[in-house]
Amino acid sequence: MCQTCLSGVSRRHLMAGGLGLLAASALPFAARAQTQASDTPDAALDKLMQGNERYIAGQMRERDFSAGRAARTEGQAPFAAILGCADSRIAPELAFDQGPGSLFVVRVAGNFVTPDGLASLEYGAAVLGTKVIMVLGHTNCGAVNATV
Ligand SMILES: [Zn+2]
Repeated sequence: MCQTCLSGVSRRHLMAGGLGLLAASALPFAARAQTQASDTPDAALDKLMQGNERYIAGQMRERDFSAGRAARTEGQAPFAAILGCADSRIAPELAFDQGPGSLFVVRVAGNFVTPDGLASLEYGAAVLGTKVIMVLGHTNCGAVNATV
C-alpha cells in the first residue's frame, strides 16, 4: 500500500465513502419505481414462487430481452437476491421466470456463502433494495457430492 497517497485517510474512511458513492449513484435510477413492484419481503417471495410455478408448468412469459436495455444501463433495481450454485443447469432467471434486471444473483459451486458473496448480497439489500434473499440449492449438485 502506498503510504504517501493514503496519508491521513484510513481504509475505513475510503470504504465508507465508496459505499456512500455507490448508494448515491443507485438512487436516481428512474426505473426503480417501475420495476420495484415487490415492496415487501413477502411480496418478493410470492413473485419468485409464482414465477417458479410458471416455469414448472412450462408456461413462462415471453420476454423481449432487448426491451429496456438502454434504461438498464442507467441502473438496476432487482427485487430479489439469489444465492445459487454455479451449475450450468440452473439459471435463476429461468427457474423464477424473471426478466433482466429483476434478480441480483450470486453464484458459486455448491451455493454456499463466502465473504465476497455475502458482501454482494449485502450490497444488493443495502444499496439496490432487494427485499428477499433466496438460497437456491438443487438435486445432484456436483460440488456437494464432491465435498461429501
Ligand atoms: Zn450445484
